[in-house]
Order: sequence, then structure tokens, then C-alpha cells
Amino acid sequence: MRIIEKKPGTQKGRNLRSGSKRVNSYAIKAGTHPSKVNIKKMKTRWGSASKDNVINLNEHLLKAPKGAIDYAILHEICHLKIRNHSHRFWELVRKFMPGYEENRKWLEANSTRIVE
Ligand SMILES: [Zn+2]
Repeated sequence: MRIIEKKPGTQKGRNLRSGSKRVNSYAIKAGTHPSKVNIKKMKTRWGSASKDNVINLNEHLLKAPKGAIDYAILHEICHLKIRNHSHRFWELVRKFMPGYEENRKWLEANSTRIVE
């Protein structure tokens, strides 16, 4: 798996590298693996997972607290296994992050402030 990074050597680049380690550790725990991870500007979402297992993360996530970043990454990893937001999906998220609700609320509460 590779992280597409436009500015290596910057603080942003370092954040992305630590983010990619977290992507890996969650992916291994969940028994899945993204084919690629893109960090890019996204206007309406924190992240997305495509059918060909590419995960896109919003570059504004880098400004979020660590727990919120981890949650956003985990959310997309879980979508590689379950493509919807069914009860089963949230059970999977909870399995890897028991207190995920707090991070989810943070992202919802701060989406307009950060994503603009
Ligand atoms: Zn989702």
C-alpha cells in the first residue's frame, strides 16, 4: 500500500506517514487492506472508500485531533469489509474502537469549520 503524498519532507508529509502506519495497523486488525490511500482536498466528506478498495482521506483531517483521525481512518477501513452503514458496520467499528462515538461527534461538529 502506498500513500500518495504531494509534499514530502513537510509537517504535512510527516503527518501522512504516521497516518499511513495507522491505516496499516487498523487494516491488519480488520483483516483487510486498501489498494491505495489518497490524501486530498475533499469538500463534503472526511473520507471515502471506493469499490476497488482505494481509500480517500480529506487532507483537512490532518488538523483534527488524533482520536478523530484514527476514527476516520478506521471508518473507511471498515467500509472495505462492509459497504454500508448497517448495524453490522457500526459493530465492526466499535470492535476496534470502543469509544468511537466521541470521535464521530467531533468530526460531525467540526466538519463545517474545517472543511471549507
Ligand atoms: Zn461511512
